[in-house]
Amino acid sequence: MNHQFDTVIIGAGPAGTSCGIALQKKNHNVCVIDKAVFPRNKTCAGLVTGKTDQLIGTIFDKAEIDGLFCCKADRIKLYRKTELLTETRVKNPAKIVNRIDFDNALVSKYKSLGGNIKEGEHHLSVDYKKSCVTLSNGDIIRYKHIVFADGALSLSHKEIGVDKRKMAFGIETYIPSDQFSTDSVDLYFDCINKGYLWVFPHGDTVCVGVANMFNKSTDYKSILTDFLHSVGVDPEKQKYTGAFLPYGYVIPQEKLPANVILVGDAGGFTDPITGEGLYMALHTGMLAAEAICSGNVKTTYLESVKPVVSIVKKGKTVQNLFFLPAVQKLFLKKVAGKEKLVSFYYDNLVDEYHYDYRRIGELLKDHRQYNKS
Ligand SMILES: Cc1cc2nc3c(=O)[nH]c(=O)nc-3n(C[C@H](O)[C@H](O)[C@H](O)COP(=O)(O)OP(=O)(O)OC[C@H]3O[C@@H](n4cnc5c(N)ncnc54)[C@H](O)[C@@H]3O)c2cc1C
Repeated sequence: MNHQFDTVIIGAGPAGTSCGIALQKKNHNVCVIDKAVFPRNKTCAGLVTGKTDQLIGTIFDKAEIDGLFCCKADRIKLYRKTELLTETRVKNPAKIVNRIDFDNALVSKYKSLGGNIKEGEHHLSVDYKKSCVTLSNGDIIRYKHIVFADGALSLSHKEIGVDKRKMAFGIETYIPSDQFSTDSVDLYFDCINKGYLWVFPHGDTVCVGVANMFNKSTDYKSILTDFLHSVGVDPEKQKYTGAFLPYGYVIPQEKLPANVILVGDAGGFTDPITGEGLYMALHTGMLAAEAICSGNVKTTYLESVKPVVSIVKKGKTVQNLFFLPAVQKLFLKKVAGKEKLVSFYYDNLVDEYHYDYRRIGELLKDHRQYNKS
């Protein structure tokens, strides 16, 4: 059977659904296709910063929003290995989502607006020349525009030849809170090269994970199990999942045909220090929808996404410096016992991009002023 849609979106994660929801709200003729059947899981610690929360507020109705979060945390703790260096209160409490529920809520929102979706499509193929997608049952969907929102290992990357070594890799596990618990956002440095370990509260469980710039020789699981041992949790009883995530490499999507757009992880859009990807996924998904409605699609999208590209690229330079062993050592020395310093950076560079990596010089200067005040 043949179908025709103006826009086909591959992937129904946050990037794909934010794009689909925005298009559906404008009565655009759109179809979302995902290999999974929802609800499905996604390896992700689920931390929602203030800037992400604001975007969530534009997607959902007020009454739907509170139910999206499994908990909130108004304090951050920084550790060197297991030694607590500093603990501080932040301006906006960080919120946490469970990705099974959050992504399902996004898909349900899209469906409630009348959006077309095809789930469980494991074996789709895309013919860029003919602008069509062939589904596993042989059905053909023709499109004017195609948006790849299919995550860090996007199908579209085959066309460009993307190297996994330019990404990060992370694994995580969920521990019942009666065995190990926290009510703050806890970051552990000096546990892994070019990355960090985290412990986030998740309601009845805590999420413990570790990620870094992908390195084949890193034994991610043993880093995590060593940590679990150190806090008295039996690692044998745990389930672990892992996934790639972009980490400072923007996919050169100009190389793809003019009617192809990449959003979210598929485009290489995450914060290159924290690995936070939900903000850029929702943001670029929405930018893609605006561009599609504007007419001059690819040019408009590439123009509107420039600030995001710039944050990722400048952030990559900061990442290269930040993870140098000497700089890490200095950073951990500087933050020890400095609550004001940590909350200043969290509030201005993580929770919001008041200063993003493009303005890191100004941030350092203003911090010195702030510290004197
Ligand atoms: C260990 C880890 C921890 C993280 N923690 C955080 C965090 O705390 N906060 C934060 O903001 N970000 C975090 N991230 C990053 C965040 O998870 C991603 O940036 C975010 O999920 C990107 O959304 P997306 O919609 O682009 O892609 P995804 O969420 O990956 O969604 C892609 C969708 O495409 C579908 N798909 C994939 N391939 C195909 C195919 N061939 N055909 C059809 N469908 C396909 C998938 O089933 C999926 O539904 C973390 C990532 C990792 C790996």
